[in-house]
Amino acid sequence: MTTILIVEDEADLRELVAHHVEAAGMIALQAATGNEGLALARSKKPDLILLDLMLPDLQGVEVCKRLRTDPATATTPIIMLTAKTAEGDRVQGFEAGADDYVPKPFSTRELLLRVRAVLRRRDQTTPQESDLITGGGITVDSARHIVVVDGVEVKMTALEFRLLATLMQRRARVQTRQVLLEDVWGLSPDLQTRTVDTHVKRLRERLGPAGDHIETVRGVGYCFRIQDNA
Ligand code: CA
Repeated sequence: MTTILIVEDEADLRELVAHHVEAAGMIALQAATGNEGLALARSKKPDLILLDLMLPDLQGVEVCKRLRTDPATATTPIIMLTAKTAEGDRVQGFEAGADDYVPKPFSTRELLLRVRAVLRRRDQTTPQESDLITGGGITVDSARHIVVVDGVEVKMTALEFRLLATLMQRRARVQTRQVLLEDVWGLSPDLQTRTVDTHVKRLRERLGPAGDHIETVRGVGYCFRIQDNA
């Protein structure tokens, strides 16, 4: 069964969300602090984590960073919950490795729709019309949401997946940071941010030597290029 970990210090809100998660046929785990959340994430390996940004001990962004560096939770989908609506906070969350963002106040219905959407992206393993993008030893299967590099599946977060698919679809065309911010993250393109660079770095690390196909175009952005048929 699908397990959702809710890390939120406001007990009323946490229990309300847990109630709706359970009503939707999933298991809800609850944590009131960042450290408790980290411990539960490691021991129970939930399918998705709802993470409040403002916690009493560790900030949500810090929790998110730690989840991403632990192999046990490195690719677990994370949706950030926060009362802050400033775009800067969204950026912080994305830079720390969150997959999506739901601003408070939210309706539990809206929240569950987002949870399902993120889980669906991760879980699409049923055979259906395959949507394959290949090049440079990398295969991106959008229908099944998997990436295979030289025959080996490489795990990545939903955002890293979208970033790679976007770069590969637009092969040999330079993508500016602004365009990527808008198309991959849905953030306004005039934002000054290192989000794109942070994620490209992480993506290259995951891809290993195949990551060299993502070229840095100095002062502009990035380009997926394969030497022979660029
Ligand atoms: Ca809070």
